[in-house]
Amino acid sequence: MSSKVQRDKNQNIQVFVRVRPLNNNEGKSLVVVDCPNNREVIVKERPAERITKTFSFDRVFGPNSKQIDVYMSVVHPMINEVLAGYNCTVFAYGQTGTGKTFTMEGERTPNTSINCGQDPLMGIIPRALSNLFDELRIQQVEFTVRVSFLELYNEELIDLLSNGDDASKIRLFEDATKKGSVIIQGLEEVMVDNKNEVYSIMEKGSLKRQTAATLMNAQSRLETSYINLLLICSRELFNIKLKLQWGGSFSNLIQITPISHCVFNHCSYKRELNGSENIGRSGAVEKRAREAGNINQSLLTLGRVITALVERAPHVPYRESKLTRLLQDSLGGRTKTSNCHHITSIL
Ligand code: ADP
Repeated sequence: MSSKVQRDKNQNIQVFVRVRPLNNNEGKSLVVVDCPNNREVIVKERPAERITKTFSFDRVFGPNSKQIDVYMSVVHPMINEVLAGYNCTVFAYGQTGTGKTFTMEGERTPNTSINCGQDPLMGIIPRALSNLFDELRIQQVEFTVRVSFLELYNEELIDLLSNGDDASKIRLFEDATKKGSVIIQGLEEVMVDNKNEVYSIMEKGSLKRQTAATLMNAQSRLETSYINLLLICSRELFNIKLKLQWGGSFSNLIQITPISHCVFNHCSYKRELNGSENIGRSGAVEKRAREAGNINQSLLTLGRVITALVERAPHVPYRESKLTRLLQDSLGGRTKTSNCHHITSIL
């Protein structure tokens, strides 16, 4: 198990990278990413000329990292922060196929009967739930937990727990009683008592999840090229609203937020988001191009919001996309955020 990342008290946003191992089809590919230590990633930009760039992060998880390492470093320290009243958010970034679902949700070890709560392959979300429920029990906190599961896709909100298909019933409102807060109206919320109930809700939501692959996505898989492509399949937010009754009463939110889109790293991020060039080059047409445009818009806004927060700018453009409106509570104010970028290591 790795040591925990020491979080500076004033450091509200941390950035991690996880590099997934090569799969069976990639065995002969040229490896262009190296993780020499747990803080740096070296990218071979022009391998033939041995031109490389080094990027530093709060923590780098190489291809051999285990689910427990990622959990203990990135999320476990947040559990106490949630219980201390912070809103905490974990973003998973990365091109399709780079391991976001593996990190966030995890998998089941094949051909075993290990239950979900103990499987070494389980990801951040079930681990965080388990940890949270255990901690609440240990601290003898009286609690109610309501779970909602929603997907934001192409600027549309989809309720993954509702039985109907009517996406238009979900609306976002400013909370008149609390400046800077957004209320999601019409979203199904399910009361849960224990972590097993949440696991089954997650499974129900996952079944409904929209997983449209873009044309770009298909191409990238064929070419196994992972640089400068913009791919979005789906975005989902899994919120656990914790209403804690503990002496007085207050509300916390741990927002565990897998976001499926493509950024290779900070540097290509802005370049990709700027223009239509990538849409044309990657072959996205009409609907797909519109989707890519919308997703571009929300990612561009997300980038601007983070920059404005870091620079303490007087105006933070939360309102410019649904994604940032949804995350407004979690990005500003009393909040800790971890961004986990996912990359593969081949060209
Ligand atoms: P994404 O959600 O980003 O599209 P997935 O999580 O579905 O990507 O990962 C793609 C494939 O890679 C899956 O088959 C998954 O099992 C495998 N994979 C991803 N990350 C890892 C990892 N760290 N270790 C082992 N296999 C991984």
